Amino acid sequence: MPVSSSKPYRVGRSKTGLGLFATQPIKKGSKIIRYFGPMLDCNKKKDDAVENKYLFQITKRWTVDGSVRENIARYINHACKPNAESDVSARKRKIIIRAIKNIEPGVEINYDYGTDYFKEYLKPIGCKCDSCEKKRKKKRAEAKAEKLKLKAKAEKKVLKQAEKKKLLNGHASKAKAAPKPKAAAKKTSATTKGRKAKSVKAQAAA
Ligand SMILES: [Zn+2]
Repeated sequence: MPVSSSKPYRVGRSKTGLGLFATQPIKKGSKIIRYFGPMLDCNKKKDDAVENKYLFQITKRWTVDGSVRENIARYINHACKPNAESDVSARKRKIIIRAIKNIEPGVEINYDYGTDYFKEYLKPIGCKCDSCEKKRKKKRAEAKAEKLKLKAKAEKKVLKQAEKKKLLNGHASKAKAAPKPKAAAKKTSATTKGRKAKSVKAQAAA
């Protein structure tokens, strides 16, 4: 592969802390970096007890502890729609991060950490990858649009009812010289009086 000797990536600031970014165009299918560290044998009690976020299981028995400083690949963040993948050779006990898309300089490199990691570490806090953020944004926008739609609908209904009332009142006043509204007014004043009397009584009782 005709690639210059300098590495095609650098560690840089990403949304979630640090990340690995392309510094040169990386061709789809090409190896980017190896993910490495001490090999842990789960049949050994001491090895099996190791617990950190950088454990990469290769087989049922062997796990790479990628938490060591030299393992620059540990900076690569997870993405649900990544531009790279982890290519695992169980026989060689080797993990290679490989591009699955052409990656332009400046673009963050990421791969899918897999469902176990996602469930344990990402789901509880919400995945911050680009595609999940986009999904959340879309959902928020849709919810907002739906709310506005419902509001507009409710306002329309109120307006319609008001118009209906107006129309009815208009008909009533047209039919006769409005004797009905007067009666209604009397009635309401009577009920208010009744209420007032009651409250006075209540006060007296107190
Ligand atoms: Zn995601």
